[in-house]
Amino acid sequence: MSVRAKKHLGQHFLTDERIAADIADALTHNGYQRVLEIGPGMGVLTKYLLRKPFTTHVIEIDQESVAYLEAQYLNLHGRIIPGDFLKIDLPAFFGDEPLAIVGNFPYNISSQIVFKVLENRQQVPELTGMFQKEVAQRIAEKEGSKKYGILSVLTQAFYEVSYLFTVPPSVFRPPPKVDSGVIRMVRKNTRLPVSEPLFFKVVKTAFNQRRKTLRNSLKPMNLSDSLREDTIFAKRPEQLSVQAFIELTSKIANDVF
Ligand code: SAH
Repeated sequence: MSVRAKKHLGQHFLTDERIAADIADALTHNGYQRVLEIGPGMGVLTKYLLRKPFTTHVIEIDQESVAYLEAQYLNLHGRIIPGDFLKIDLPAFFGDEPLAIVGNFPYNISSQIVFKVLENRQQVPELTGMFQKEVAQRIAEKEGSKKYGILSVLTQAFYEVSYLFTVPPSVFRPPPKVDSGVIRMVRKNTRLPVSEPLFFKVVKTAFNQRRKTLRNSLKPMNLSDSLREDTIFAKRPEQLSVQAFIELTSKIANDVF
C-alpha cells in the first residue's frame, strides 16, 4: 500500500531516510515536550520523530495519507489530525503548552506556514523543517541581499534562524523542480521594544516598494518633514538590519508634528 502523489497538495515524498533522520536530529528539544509535524504523507519523517523523547502529533490534509498513517503508525503517542494546518486553531487544539513545528512542508503554502507560526509564536518555541531552497534562504537571509525581505525581517525579529543544509530534487518522489533547504528557527526570549503592529506596518510598507528609498516608500505613513530628514530615510529597505527596522519603528512611534 502506498499513497498516490497529488500535485495540488504539494506532495513530494522523501525517499532518502538519512535526510529524514537528519531533520529529526536537528530539533533542539529545548523548551517543549511535543511536536506537531505538518504533512507527514507516508510518515518517513514521522518514523524518526517517534524515536525521540517527545510526543509527536501530525496534521495531514490528504485523506489517503491519513488512512495510510492510521494503518501504519498505531504506536503514535500523539494524534493524527486530519485537516489543514492553515485552518487549525492551535491553542484550541493544543492548549497553551509549548509546541514545536516540524516537517517536510508542503511547498505551495510555505510562507503561509511561517506567517501562521509568527502569529502563534507565544506557543511555538521552534520550527525545524524543509522548504523549497529559495524560501528557506529568504527566511534566513541577512540585509544587503536581494532575497532579504518581509519574510526575513519579520521572522528574524522573533526567531534566531539557521540555514542547515540543501537537499537535491533527486531524493523525492516525484522530484520537485527546485532544490530544497532545511532551516531551524528558535524563538528569541526578548520582546520587541516597539509596538508590534507598527513594526509590521513599517516593514510591509517599506518592502512594498523595495527599490525606492524609505523617504518615498514610507510616504503613506504621513511622517513629519523633520523625521524624513533623518539619514536612515535615504536608504532602501534591503539595507536595513532587523535592529535598524526596530530603531526606525521607534523613531516613527516618537514622531511629533
Ligand atoms: N513528510 C512527507 C510528505 C511531504 S509532502 C515526506 O517527507 O515524504 C507535503 C505533505 O503535506 C503532503 O503529504 C500533503 O498532503 C501535506 N499537506 C499539503 N497541504 C497541507 C495542509 N494545508 N495541511 C496539512 N498537510 C498538508
